[in-house]
Amino acid sequence: MTTLIPVSQNQHNPSLELKPVSLEQLHVLLDHLQGIVGYFDTVNRCVYANHAYARAYHTTVQDMLGKHIRDIIGEEGWRFVEPYSQRVLAGESVRYVREIDRDMPESHWIEVHLVPNAVEDGRVVGNFVFIDDVTEQHRTQEVIRASEERTRLFIEAGTEGIVFYRDGVVIDCNDAFLRMLGKQRHDIMHMPASHLFLKSDRAFAEKYMHVERDTVYPAQLPRADGSLITVEIAGRRVSVNGTDSFVAVVRDTSQLVTMNEALLRSQSRYRSLVDNSDQCAFFTQDRKVIYANPAAVKLFGPHPHALVGVESLHLIHPDDRAYALRRRKEMIAGDPNTEVQLRAISPPAEQINEHTRIVWVRLHGSIIEWEARPGVLIFLTDITALRESEDTMRKALAQEKELGDLKTRFVSMASHEFRTPLATIQTSSELLQHYSDRLSVAEKADALNDIQRAVQRMQAMMDRFLAFGRLDSGSTVFTPTPTPLLACLQGLVREIQVSQAGRHSVTVTAHAPVDENTHLMLDQTLLGQMVMNLITNACKYSPRDTRVKIEVLRSIGELGPCLVITVQDEGMGIPPAELPRLFDSFYRASNANTTPGTGLGLAIVDRAVRAHGGHVSVQSELAKGSRFSLNLPWVEAS
Ligand code: ADP
Repeated sequence: MTTLIPVSQNQHNPSLELKPVSLEQLHVLLDHLQGIVGYFDTVNRCVYANHAYARAYHTTVQDMLGKHIRDIIGEEGWRFVEPYSQRVLAGESVRYVREIDRDMPESHWIEVHLVPNAVEDGRVVGNFVFIDDVTEQHRTQEVIRASEERTRLFIEAGTEGIVFYRDGVVIDCNDAFLRMLGKQRHDIMHMPASHLFLKSDRAFAEKYMHVERDTVYPAQLPRADGSLITVEIAGRRVSVNGTDSFVAVVRDTSQLVTMNEALLRSQSRYRSLVDNSDQCAFFTQDRKVIYANPAAVKLFGPHPHALVGVESLHLIHPDDRAYALRRRKEMIAGDPNTEVQLRAISPPAEQINEHTRIVWVRLHGSIIEWEARPGVLIFLTDITALRESEDTMRKALAQEKELGDLKTRFVSMASHEFRTPLATIQTSSELLQHYSDRLSVAEKADALNDIQRAVQRMQAMMDRFLAFGRLDSGSTVFTPTPTPLLACLQGLVREIQVSQAGRHSVTVTAHAPVDENTHLMLDQTLLGQMVMNLITNACKYSPRDTRVKIEVLRSIGELGPCLVITVQDEGMGIPPAELPRLFDSFYRASNANTTPGTGLGLAIVDRAVRAHGGHVSVQSELAKGSRFSLNLPWVEAS
């Protein structure tokens, strides 16, 4: 057996020389080593292997001894190892890394160090084998390699140019950067990084190139063919192999710039469209005006931009704000009808005052996103003129309808009221014409009287029409004269009593301060028409022998002292639902059918009292009676 002697490299340093150890001691030592140790002779037979060696090859030390290395590591392993084996036997110390146990679930990587055992004459008599398991290191290196590969692929595959520079000099770049500039790698390697820029931009570039923090800046870089490429550069400090360097990521933005320019052009087209539109356009967000076009500014305020920041509700008439908010809610909830008509106010304010201009507007709103937040885009048209003409039209239509109704009521009244007197005239005149010889003088007189009464009745009706027509058209001139009030009323009562032949008791009561000396400024004709119509009606619509009471008093009304004349009867009364229409011309209550009338008396009263600046009112209860009150300004005759 060959004697193993530790190789001393310290022959010239006796203090460190090792004491000789026994072979057994050496074996024990080697067997406890984690690392693999072996010794092979010149024909590659195993002379020594420690336990770790045997374990690594799933065998025993005994089994290994004397075996050719090929039989230990297998044919495939031997093919790999043989060249190294030849080199070590030629006297060279060699190192290699090899994968073992490939067919096992987990393979291992070992680093093998072959050291020749040369004797004094230089002859190699065998070789030492030292093996380390380097699986872990190998895997780590693999991971690093894979990550580096990925980084390389990433750097190479992207369309963004990447360039590294240190101390202001380009040290590396990717192919994309070269493609961008149309240059070769050697064109730019080791050139000053600022030379990548146009001469005129170098000072500017220098400013950004060496800043600590991340920076992004736009630039134009000259290409090999002399053209320029518009880019955006993002630079940052990095550490390459422990030294501070900079990396710049260069993005070609020429297309983006063109798109931006197109966008800006189209934006400015739309902007000028909105700005020049007659329609007012607003954009509101969080209930504040964010944008208003010139038309809106013109409508709402004298100062340009005065609308921006204004509370959007302050553009709306306070009375229409609740409605506007409700419609806004409905619109957000998806109501497809987005049109709203309401009153806007100018200038915008929380409250309106006498200087506020009120404008009717029609607006359409739609919810849109603006800088990632919702807002309301509003288009608004001033429809004040339209509303006014609509109003005029509506009034004209109402007037026309009223006129139509009036005509209908007149025709129905006339056909009804004229029929009776005309029939009387016809019958009486026929009687006189055909039977004159057979009629007594008294009978003839009766017939003639009937004709005269019928004519008078028609005459009275015609007078009423004329009186009403004059009052209604305003052609009656209101002529107040000093009027002895009580004397005037009593004269009227006497007149009535004559025509009524005392069928009713008509009394006049004056309450202080009204007395015989009271002289007021009144239009006596109109006063006569008013009071006469009321007393006539009171008698007409009351049973015989009932009382008609006229009371005269002074009162204080909203506009100061007033004269109140009430005419109260105990008659049939008026259905409550019909009271509001009682003063309309030709209007007759439904319970008045059997009593002749024109429906003009109260209309005349109404117009006459209004000519005095007063008003008339009525209280009535069916089957109990009615009470009409004339309320006239108290103007004493001086
Ligand atoms: P008419 O010629 O029909 O009396 P008026 O204009 O004087 O016209 O009165 C209008 C209607 O008011 C009458 O047709 C009648 O229905 C009602 N009316 C007026 N005065 C009285 C009254 N004192 N009692 C009951 N109904 C009355």
